[in-house]
Amino acid sequence: MSKRPVYMDYAAATPADPRALKAMMPFLKNSYGNPSSSHALGQQAKVGIEKAREKVAAFLSCSAGEVVFTSGATEANNLAIHGILQSVLESYLKTKNYPSILLGVNQLKTSEKPHIITSAIEHESVLAPIRDLEKRGAVEATYVLPDAEGLVRPSDVADALTPNTALVSIQYANSEIGTVQPIAEISRVLRDFLKTKNYKLKTIFHTDATQAANYLDCSVEKLGVDLLTLSSHKIYGPKGAGALYAKKGVEFSPLLLGGGQEEGRRSGTENVPGIVGMGEACALLLDPRIRLRSISLRQLRDRCVKSALARIPEARITGSVKNRLPNNIHLRLPGVQGKDVVFLMDQKGVCVSTGSACSESSQEASHVLLAMGYSREEALSSVRISLGRTTTAAETARCVKALVSSLDRLKRGGI
Ligand code: PMP
Repeated sequence: MSKRPVYMDYAAATPADPRALKAMMPFLKNSYGNPSSSHALGQQAKVGIEKAREKVAAFLSCSAGEVVFTSGATEANNLAIHGILQSVLESYLKTKNYPSILLGVNQLKTSEKPHIITSAIEHESVLAPIRDLEKRGAVEATYVLPDAEGLVRPSDVADALTPNTALVSIQYANSEIGTVQPIAEISRVLRDFLKTKNYKLKTIFHTDATQAANYLDCSVEKLGVDLLTLSSHKIYGPKGAGALYAKKGVEFSPLLLGGGQEEGRRSGTENVPGIVGMGEACALLLDPRIRLRSISLRQLRDRCVKSALARIPEARITGSVKNRLPNNIHLRLPGVQGKDVVFLMDQKGVCVSTGSACSESSQEASHVLLAMGYSREEALSSVRISLGRTTTAAETARCVKALVSSLDRLKRGGI
């Protein structure tokens, strides 16, 4: 009988925790009503959503009304970016008496356009909507470069501020290299800088906490953010659910129009089981035993790295050793292609990836590594190994063994 694969790709997706699945089941079987319906089955579903909202809010230390459920982090990031920009553009164009937004955008001078600051190493679901807005002539954007470890300097973000900066979006942790950004410090530096100016436009600070939520404090007040993105399937909840925290008073236009669900902020019949599962996943993140597990995960990860580097001396670790998610290993393996290593390891029953799962199929060099100053060849030679809650020492040992033998095979002449 073949062994179960060793899964070491938890940054791409986590299995749903059995407790999240258990919480979901009644909403698939019995309480299947539409939460907008006034009858008993509809109201049961509605209660399920509202209880989940409270659990997500407890995880973020915010009020329930500040949580908007979405289909995942991609939608939450798009909602944050398009929502803020559209709202800013609409109110600006109203003052100009343009008959429509489309006409108005075409008339905007560069000095009038709203400005966005982000980093060059954000997830594509942040970068793509910003590039799209730029292409349409609606915004100006600054892409702050990280240092060689993948860290964004708070002063670089502040230096990029202009009187037109409507939004700053900096990720909490990177999906490929696991680097953790100093979000609270960036927020402080931004606020301090803005206090010295008399800009009319309020700058909104967004962070994509998709990869960070498993391991780091996501209290929005401590972080000093106005908007924050979460994804359920990265925190042991089901796929197809996510959330955007939007601080009370922050105005943003909806992406989806229709039935006015989520108080008009996200129309569409709610994914009730997904939302309930996500709520449970967030509640579990506050469980002290799960918090402790993430500390022991760091030790397991460090032992795994030590063993890999001892057997593959030419391998190099990418990113910060200190400011890094406890489950992330990112290796550059000179002389081979990361995709070939991933293929051979898969044949040996070990699931790893070359970087972000979303861009893996394109096989382009990672924009994260290029922005950090690596060459295309170096970027293509990388492999990401990400551990999870149930990863064991035996699994990391199997992973290192598979990595070493895959590299041997590639060095001997190919796949
Ligand atoms: N942001 C980050 C940092 C991610 O890692 C991902 C998923 N790889 C996303 C956004 C998109 O998440 P989702 O799959 O929930 O749309």
